Amino acid sequence: MQVKNPPGGIPVRYIKGVGPGKAPCFEKLGVKNVSDLFYYLPRRYEDRSRIVEVKDLEPGSAQAVVGRVLKTGVFTARTGTRIFEMTLGDGQRRVSAVWYNQPFMNKVFSVGQTVMLYGKVELQKRLQITHPAYEILDPGNAKDTSLLPHPSSLDRLKASLDVGRIVPVYPLTANLTQRYMRKVVRRAIRSSLAGAPEVLPTRIRARRKLVDFRFAIENIHFPYSFDNLEKAYKRLVFEEFFILQAVMALKRKKVREKGMRHEAREGLLADFEKLFSFELTGEQKKCIKEIERDMAGDKPMYRLLQGDVGSGKTVIAMYALLLAVANGRQAAMMVPTEILARQHYVTVSESFMPLGLNVRLLVSGIDTGDRERIRKELAEGEADIVIGTHSLIQEDIDYKNLALAVMDEQHKFGVTQRKVLRAKGGTPDTLVMTATPIPRSLALTVFGDMDFSLLKEKPAGRESVTTYRVGEDKRDAVYAFMRDEVSEGRQAFIVYPRVKKSASSDLKSAEEMYDHLRKNVFGDMRLAIVHGGLKTGEKNKVMDEFRAGKSDILVATTVIEVGVDIPNVTVMVVEHAERYGLAQLHQLRGRIGRGKHASYCILIGEPGTDAAHERLCAMAETDDGFKIAEKDLDIRGPGQFLGTRQSGLPEIRFGNIARDFAIMEEARDEAFRLVEEDPQLKDPRNAAIRKAIAERFGVVVRSSEKNVGAGPCACPLPGGEQR
Ligand code: ADP
Ligand code: MG
Repeated sequence: MQVKNPPGGIPVRYIKGVGPGKAPCFEKLGVKNVSDLFYYLPRRYEDRSRIVEVKDLEPGSAQAVVGRVLKTGVFTARTGTRIFEMTLGDGQRRVSAVWYNQPFMNKVFSVGQTVMLYGKVELQKRLQITHPAYEILDPGNAKDTSLLPHPSSLDRLKASLDVGRIVPVYPLTANLTQRYMRKVVRRAIRSSLAGAPEVLPTRIRARRKLVDFRFAIENIHFPYSFDNLEKAYKRLVFEEFFILQAVMALKRKKVREKGMRHEAREGLLADFEKLFSFELTGEQKKCIKEIERDMAGDKPMYRLLQGDVGSGKTVIAMYALLLAVANGRQAAMMVPTEILARQHYVTVSESFMPLGLNVRLLVSGIDTGDRERIRKELAEGEADIVIGTHSLIQEDIDYKNLALAVMDEQHKFGVTQRKVLRAKGGTPDTLVMTATPIPRSLALTVFGDMDFSLLKEKPAGRESVTTYRVGEDKRDAVYAFMRDEVSEGRQAFIVYPRVKKSASSDLKSAEEMYDHLRKNVFGDMRLAIVHGGLKTGEKNKVMDEFRAGKSDILVATTVIEVGVDIPNVTVMVVEHAERYGLAQLHQLRGRIGRGKHASYCILIGEPGTDAAHERLCAMAETDDGFKIAEKDLDIRGPGQFLGTRQSGLPEIRFGNIARDFAIMEEARDEAFRLVEEDPQLKDPRNAAIRKAIAERFGVVVRSSEKNVGAGPCACPLPGGEQR
């Protein structure tokens, strides 16, 4: 194949045996160009390097065997299943291969062929392989009665892509076969690999002991040994993570250009602590120090504060707010729900009362007059601190000098919302908080341009939360338990997946159960109900009254999921718990265990799937948000874990973020070192890196001195953060 290299690469149809006919099949797999084929990785490998004869088969493991087809036939089992059976022999012994419900296999095999089978060998009444992988090595001849493999097929074995070696197994679509795919990949490698560029500079490869690109591609497809395969894999994953982290490093360099300095005067922290009835924990102080250092510097802070639910992140954010205001500027805190905004508003305005700060609440529920007044106060610099929902980022809201943007429960926000809030200031310091701990591997991938603060321990004196998972049969016991807690003076939440009963499902709903519980179960207690269908005013009233202890049991939907902080609540009952994701269950559970009383989370559910069962078990097993997060990542994978809203997760082709974390760290080291040494990737030796970044992330690294740094970045970046 001699085609001149077009800019987008050589289209796959030019490979011999593909053509316009098959090219669309490849497109379905995302393969357009020859080089896409290099990166089209096998799903798994089969070790067919050791081929045994039928007489040497040993039951119990997967093996590759070659022999002649002696007999074929389709029969029907007593159960009605159609079974195709083929018998293979080598003159001494026989093995049968069976396929269930695939009578058409009868057309594939015929007596006299020499075939290779690969699969797990079992000893039933005789040796048997069920649904083996197969290759027909020689069409043979039914009249040839020799029982030995056809001699020429042994030669074919040596040259074969399909047997006699470690064989790649690709993910495929209709009209493509493994054998065909192997042939096409082989041709692509033969014809074009020599011209493919090496992205990783020699010095990095030497330092990290990485094989070169050609070796990697050859061995990822047709590994000579498993050892080579491993080297090839490591190299490709490294390259992928390296490019990703180089983008992070560049972004971070840019973001850190210039910002505002916020100095903490002597004794500010001590004065701050006096505002609270408790002492800050060591962890809280550590995080505060990290923030203080960031805010004092002339580069903008860009920090992610991770701490489990109830770990006390709000106070830390408040210190940051204070620091901005103490320097004569404004600070904003954005939260996902109005309930949470009001709660933070109460906390912040009450705590800061002695300091005489102007704290405002901006949510869609306030009346127009108030909104207009606050809008003016923000624009004129009258208001020091504003707390609110997405109302904070509406178009007509301007700030005189917004110097700090805090986002609480960031997982509820999209990338864009974060961006817009920051854009309301010049280059404000940014603190993003999350109670869904993100495993470090994933954090480096998605928030790799941020600094991390970790709040590990919870404030002392907290009683633990005990979690039970129960079935329907325990319902009465659960009610009895709630009753006991309430009579001790405590309060309880009971959460339903829906507001109203729907005709099409059996799910219990908040409204229906509220009626039922009030009339038939807790007649002597004070019940209240809250859900997203209520008007804002009503919602707030219910929450305020519950907080004040004017009701005992709050029937709710997941509107209470984030942030709500009412220490007297000791019971959280979640109905249909199997329906929720781990992160959400953990958030819900985080609403209790906030006071000095022991708390109980009761998950009522009937898990119908393994994943649901695993989730409930994980909840009962641990209370540690980080363990839950790791588990969640494990069950759902990174894309689902992050959710589509904020995903910003770059497409990862080779690596497995969790499993290949060690490689990620190495790649990150090298990438940050690279950008440190050559911030604009001007060095010709880095040209291929530059090109790879542009191709994979659409990121153009500008080469003019002026452009890099100041000004918005030219491109959508993974994580999507721009300043
Ligand atoms: P989260 O990290 O989930 O946002 P919060 O900031 O809402 O947690 O804190 C949970 C509860 O812990 C609040 O009632 C808060 O007042 C309390 N709290 C925070 N820090 C401490 C501390 N150092 N000692 C005791 N209680 C604290
Ligand atoms: Mg919080």
